[in-house]
Amino acid sequence: MVKGDKINDIIDHKLFSEDDIHEMCVRLGKQLTEDYAGKRPLVVGALKGAIYFLTDLTRQMDVAHQLDFLDVSSYGDGFESTGKIKVVTDMSADVKDRDVLIVEDIVDTGLTLKFMKDLIKKRGAKSVKCCAMLNKEACREVDVDVDYYGSKVGNEFVVGFGLDFLNMYRNIPYVGVLKPEVIQKYVN
Ligand code: 5GP
Repeated sequence: MVKGDKINDIIDHKLFSEDDIHEMCVRLGKQLTEDYAGKRPLVVGALKGAIYFLTDLTRQMDVAHQLDFLDVSSYGDGFESTGKIKVVTDMSADVKDRDVLIVEDIVDTGLTLKFMKDLIKKRGAKSVKCCAMLNKEACREVDVDVDYYGSKVGNEFVVGFGLDFLNMYRNIPYVGVLKPEVIQKYVN
């Protein structure tokens, strides 16, 4: 029974704590600081899910960089990927000859990331890499490199730290699994 919309009412169990995610950001930030030294990368956050991870990750990167955002649609408001991807809100920077780092919340089938990487390459970027918080490696449907990631995760639907269910619950400060009854409440 779902009592309300409080975090304790909707989360079944926690998968990655705030400390786990902080450790991911520290480790990845150190690696990105080394790999992008002197390159002034353009960091492109994939809206909307990546914003929480992006703000923590970039604060661990000791390298001058610029920020941009790209919103492409993938899942709509449900669980299953439609396979159809389109640009909802385009980035504003010119990526020509830039080293671009896409920041993603999670890579699942890989369709969204492949679409973004292909788009940015086509526009003439010098390099295009991706840093994702989570990697559902076993769910991949297309061949695309997730160049950096915080942790692998299995084939389960996770929310929190930017990850949503029906555009809700992004603000949960950790990554967890929803109670089945929460999903049933909204999906018939
Ligand atoms: P892909 O195109 O790789 O299948 O999907 C990427 C996008 O699907 C992610 O950026 C994310 O918005 C959404 N997604 C994939 N798996 C999950 C998940 O377990 N939980 C949530 N909340 N979103 C997911």
